[in-house]
Amino acid sequence: MLVTTHVFVGALIGLAMPNPVSAFAAGASSHLALDAVPHWGPLPEADWYPVARADGLAGLSSILTCAVVTPRRRLPGVLAGIAGSAVVDMDKPMGYWFGRSPWPGWFDRFHVWVQREAPTRLPRDVAVCAVVGGVTVAVLWLSGRQARARCP
Ligand SMILES: [Zn+2]
Repeated sequence: MLVTTHVFVGALIGLAMPNPVSAFAAGASSHLALDAVPHWGPLPEADWYPVARADGLAGLSSILTCAVVTPRRRLPGVLAGIAGSAVVDMDKPMGYWFGRSPWPGWFDRFHVWVQREAPTRLPRDVAVCAVVGGVTVAVLWLSGRQARARCP
């Protein structure tokens, strides 16, 4: 699953949770659930780096966008949800740059086991990410509008 999609879903979860700790835990759980949904994955010999680089940059941009549109009092929870949803995939950049995952082997094996990947699903994943991103930004922005409307 694209990390940008994980970021948007984590932001929505963070908005709904009562505190940052539960937002982080729910975000991390959502990551594994989303990875079990059929999604894009490269062929073993394919060059996946261009997609990963674009997805990483889009993920960072989506974090900034979510932070800008989120009401200040909800920002800690939203950022915690994002962190929980994205941190699970730290095995990818850590493995690429440092040659090892930050997670225990049993967790990495479980993370691989839940994947339902196919090399033909990238266009659909990008479309799903765009829709989820639009909904997320709209919900975050509207939640801020409601909060502002309540304050005199
Ligand atoms: Zn993952």
